[in-house]
Amino acid sequence: MLRTVVYDTKPYDREALQAASEDASIEWQFMDCRLSIDTAATAADAGAVCVFVNDRVDRACLEALAESGVKHIALRCAGFNAVDLDAAKDLGLAVTRVPAYSPHAVAEHAVALLLALNRKIPRANNRVRELNFALNGLVGFDLHGKTAGIFGTGKIGRITAQILRGFGMRVLAYDPFPSEDWATEHGIEYTDAQSLARECEVISLHTPLTPETRHIIRRETIELMKPGTIVINVSRGALIDTKALIEALKTGQLGGVGLDVYEEEEGVFFEDLSGQILHDDDLARLLTFPNVLITAHQAFLTREALGEIARVTVANLTAGAAGEPFLPDTALVDLLTS
Ligand code: NAD
Repeated sequence: MLRTVVYDTKPYDREALQAASEDASIEWQFMDCRLSIDTAATAADAGAVCVFVNDRVDRACLEALAESGVKHIALRCAGFNAVDLDAAKDLGLAVTRVPAYSPHAVAEHAVALLLALNRKIPRANNRVRELNFALNGLVGFDLHGKTAGIFGTGKIGRITAQILRGFGMRVLAYDPFPSEDWATEHGIEYTDAQSLARECEVISLHTPLTPETRHIIRRETIELMKPGTIVINVSRGALIDTKALIEALKTGQLGGVGLDVYEEEEGVFFEDLSGQILHDDDLARLLTFPNVLITAHQAFLTREALGEIARVTVANLTAGAAGEPFLPDTALVDLLTS
């Protein structure tokens, strides 16, 4: 049996991992806490650990894990900035991740935010529950015939673009590595970033967070936009300069904002803080706007995505324990090949 300690788990993680490992020789130990040097001792005698986006797997933590006999760090997410890969290599620890689980889940959530925001569904729902059936203040606009802009046409951006084409929208896209054949096939037009900002009623962000994309939406970009533009971000919080966003919401330059990610989400998103004091003034301000819709990094949260994350994680844990190759494209540090 491979004893695997799983950090920062929620009930849905546990269910998915258990369901995916019915036929596997894995003994799970599910932890609420995150993995860091302070909690690494909880992995004593384990063969592997399984971590998520907010665990802190730095060199000191990896040294402690290696000392206690851990051989494999299995990330149950795509991003791997939480793990010191050089240190893992030095210490002879294998590291794997789940590079893609369901781009459909994330794209569909982006569109859900857009529809709910434009047609003011949360407000309408709150009203009718109070037996207020008035329609004042609930006017939206037809997406059909409007222009949407997609920043980043990777796996998720492409699906979002195709869904919006299905609504009868004109879709513009910007990506430093355009996929011309795909664009032609789906009637999507590539343009430069400034034209995209200028011409669209809806802008949706689907780029990874890199030094180039950090604050890709800032005061100067927002000034280029048509008054009333809706911005959707399901990618990474720091793609948007939050202070500039708040200013543009106050002046009405932006017509609405749908966020599944937020610059300072760590320690807030994924947690139940009800009854506590929110210390983030920018987030508190964002929550006051009627035309801002926020979800707490849940775009990936479908049964299919959780199932795929669990399937790949279990397959790699099993392969690692047997000294067999990991699934293709999932190894960040592979001891068989390095
Ligand atoms: P991907 O790697 O398939 O695509 C990213 C695209 O962005 C690529 O085509 C790339 O060329 C492009 N790009 C890079 N720099 C750019 C720039 N400066 N301007 C415009 N485009 C640029 O990634 P993906 O699977 O589509 O995921 C996109 C992002 O979605 C991820 O990086 C991640 O941050 C986010 N994500 C969020 C969730 C969630 O639950 N909210 C889940 C999964 C992924």
